[in-house]
Amino acid sequence: MTIENTTSPAVVRTRFAPSPTGYLHLGGARTALYSWAYAKHATKHHANDSAFILRIEDTDVERSTPAAVQAILDGMAWLGLSADEGPFYQMQHMPRYRAVIADMLAAGTAYHCYSSAAQVEAMRETARAKGDKPKYDGTWRPDVGKVLPQPPQGVHPVVRFKNPASGVVSWDDMVKGNITIANAELDDFIIARALTDEAAQAGEIVGVPTYNFCVVVDDWDMRITHVIRGDDHVNNTPRQINVLQALGATLPKYGHLPMILGPDGEKLSKRHGAVSVMQYDTLGYLPQALLNYLARLGWSHGDTELLSMDELVSWFDGSNLSKSAAQWDPKKLNWVNAQYIKQAPVQQLLDWLHQHRTMQATPQLEAAIGLMRDRAETLVQLADLVAVFNAAPAMDDALIAQHVTSNTTVLASFAAALSHLPEWDKVSIAGAIASTLAAQGLKMPQLAIPVRVAVFGTTQTLGVDAMLAVLGKTQTLARLKCA
Ligand code: GLU
Repeated sequence: MTIENTTSPAVVRTRFAPSPTGYLHLGGARTALYSWAYAKHATKHHANDSAFILRIEDTDVERSTPAAVQAILDGMAWLGLSADEGPFYQMQHMPRYRAVIADMLAAGTAYHCYSSAAQVEAMRETARAKGDKPKYDGTWRPDVGKVLPQPPQGVHPVVRFKNPASGVVSWDDMVKGNITIANAELDDFIIARALTDEAAQAGEIVGVPTYNFCVVVDDWDMRITHVIRGDDHVNNTPRQINVLQALGATLPKYGHLPMILGPDGEKLSKRHGAVSVMQYDTLGYLPQALLNYLARLGWSHGDTELLSMDELVSWFDGSNLSKSAAQWDPKKLNWVNAQYIKQAPVQQLLDWLHQHRTMQATPQLEAAIGLMRDRAETLVQLADLVAVFNAAPAMDDALIAQHVTSNTTVLASFAAALSHLPEWDKVSIAGAIASTLAAQGLKMPQLAIPVRVAVFGTTQTLGVDAMLAVLGKTQTLARLKCA
């Protein structure tokens, strides 16, 4: 069976095809980002009907959950990676997969196999013992001139793909370059499991299609031109190519991204900290920063470290993908995040502080963000830095005893100078500081440290004038009075 692929070569159709068995993890997010960027690049430069497609591969019913589907959709939405088509759900395509299998059985590119799992294991063992590749031995494969055994009574067969017996499968990988696999290495893999008695009684003629097969049919039906995915799928690719060829489909190009390693060189996992994309929201990373960091984790554009998504789309032409595994670098991510916190729209920071710390968006909070954003690597740090303006800090008795109790006269005189200020701004406050120092015959730290402790509960802050300007007159005088 052949459906002509009418897609012109310039059109790029990519897909992100997560299995909903957990949250959206960093590796998945990077795959999604590259697939998205490559389709957008084509749209921008030459083919505006290019598309990025989201396909949820939910055929593993034991492990797929609605919560995981939602986690993936949430992660994609948070990152702003919106699909042009989809989300599609493979479970909704079951009749289509079964129809293609029925067609392949009719065309002779697939066949029924009655060998039991134990028999196949024995075949593999025999091959292993001879030093051959452990494979199904082709007992039920209908080769020309071969007489097949009688199907055993009462056994529902699986359906196997009739893989080419000789020759090679070869593709020019966007990341890894040419990859060639001998067909002799490949099994006649199962494309449909055996029917259950109930399914057979209900009139089904084809059992549940397998993972590799569903991927192939969807890539074909969705006219995918570029499959960008993790290199844990490299072994699936020759099988998928052979099936696509048996179907007469145009082959997509493949690009297999090396995995992401943790700082210790092991595959990135929970042991290394947060691996779920949404955790990065909670931990105070801006989505733009995470995207920027992921963009550079396995792809480069000269020495550019900071780039907008527009720039990524302009530059992401499928070249400069790294062949070697990328290493997760939390320090670098923090640096990138800090750069984004410096220049993010203030509303985005206010929204995060409201959502995660229930802080109200007030002019004071906005001013506090303005003062503190350059010092924060994460929004959690920013929240802590601005919290001192929001509520009087918890006081450390030892600090109070050391810096405040012995300086009540100095603090009272400073409070009096402040209370007479007609304007409340950094310059006026600096004036009150200067006049207090002169009147009391003090050096800056002798006033600044007691004020910091009395007002902010700590000996170290930014300049007192700037801090008090943001805190406001009422709050400043109230906190000085309590001291
Ligand atoms: N569903 C597969 C996964 O989550 C991806 C399949 C593919 O990209 O071909 O690993």
